[in-house]
Amino acid sequence: MVRTIAFVLVAGLAGCASSGGYSPAPIYRAPIVAPPPGPSIYDTAPRAPLHGQLFACNGGGGSNIGEISYDGAVILYAPYMNTPAGELLRNPTEVACLSSGFGWRGTLGSGRQHNGLDLANRAGGFIYAAGPGRISYADYRGGYGNTIEIDHGNGVRSLYAHMSEFDQRLVRGAPVYAGQPIGRMGMTGNATGVHLHYEVWIEGLLVDPLHYGRPPTYVSAPPPEDSFLDEMEAALDDK
Ligand SMILES: [Zn+2]
Repeated sequence: MVRTIAFVLVAGLAGCASSGGYSPAPIYRAPIVAPPPGPSIYDTAPRAPLHGQLFACNGGGGSNIGEISYDGAVILYAPYMNTPAGELLRNPTEVACLSSGFGWRGTLGSGRQHNGLDLANRAGGFIYAAGPGRISYADYRGGYGNTIEIDHGNGVRSLYAHMSEFDQRLVRGAPVYAGQPIGRMGMTGNATGVHLHYEVWIEGLLVDPLHYGRPPTYVSAPPPEDSFLDEMEAALDDK
């Protein structure tokens, strides 16, 4: 093996030498300069899509999912929430389903408060700034893992946790625009699966990013098709 490599090297040098032509030896060599870094993945990624619907993961098996329709869509979902700082995305992900909602998890006396939405997607899926603002935190934060927090002004902040990575240029004070790709989906910190933990704070209080500003809904799933009922009745009659 070593001999083979040596032979190839010699042959290569010989090839160079025999290529002919005048080739002056350089008097000095300029220091080797690393090529400029290519465009960041965060520069080339598309900005946030506007999701018209949000579906529950796994047919709605998560906690605090709320009302869902027959096909698993969150009832009366709206892409934006109106806050004192303007519109924020309720689902600031590339593609994700709702695996857990805001509120108490567990039973009375046993469980704990879940302070945000859990939006699950494949690892590496992009996460976006929910609205314009400035970075107020960008670092690893214990159980939250890789975390970014954006100050949107007027007492409104949003927080993104468990990211696999985030744009390293987003240091404290850096401006972000609405829908700017800021990080990627992961499970850093205390997470049992790949998801974004998304929190919204308004005037010092945590709010439900899914339902903030919306009246309670009392919409039931559409009734099954008549033919389905007919089949059920027929099946019962047969017995
Ligand atoms: Zn969570």
